[in-house]
Amino acid sequence: MNSFKNIYCVGRNYIPHAKELKNPVPSSPFFFSKPTHALVEANGQEITLPGDRGTIHFEVELVIRIDKPYKKGLEVDELVGGMAVGIDFTLRDIQNELKKKGYPWLIAKGFPNSAVLSNFIEFPGIEECKKVDFALLKNGQQVQIGNIKDMVFDLQTIIDFSAEHFGLGKGDIIFTGTPEGVGPVSDGDHLSLLLGEQVLGDCIIKLS
Ligand code: ZN
Repeated sequence: MNSFKNIYCVGRNYIPHAKELKNPVPSSPFFFSKPTHALVEANGQEITLPGDRGTIHFEVELVIRIDKPYKKGLEVDELVGGMAVGIDFTLRDIQNELKKKGYPWLIAKGFPNSAVLSNFIEFPGIEECKKVDFALLKNGQQVQIGNIKDMVFDLQTIIDFSAEHFGLGKGDIIFTGTPEGVGPVSDGDHLSLLLGEQVLGDCIIKLS
């Protein structure tokens, strides 16, 4: 976990998700980031989240890991070495308040354990990646399913944009946006992170 450097996250990268939260679809990539303290691996254990700050939503996302120093012209398949399925946990009530005030989202998006990661597997290349869906099960039922081919901004665009605006290097990871179906978690919920039929990680929610 400690080897990751920056955690970039893409907002509103799937049209049905932007619409379900009544947000406009962006015309250029929309980013926020999380502190490294937000990271936690889903190994079947309990993950503690704040129980006293309003509704917490799950957002399942494909996560990519950059394995090489970025250079302009390098392609996704050359730069990305690993991928995982992750959850971008969001304090939704707080985020709504922050949005109204025009404040940054850090408090709603950056709390400890808000960036959940499954095991990383070797990145199979964009074309192979498009052949498998990523999904989230809550208590055994599928609540979200997505595929990178439905992104508003594709992986190359996201990577080039990050590099240009924030810098991008080995060890950085990118949460690439959530499809529709985000919703609340409750104490005791069992969440499973799937790639195709394969469970790459799971955890139990502990609110405290
Ligand atoms: Zn997200």
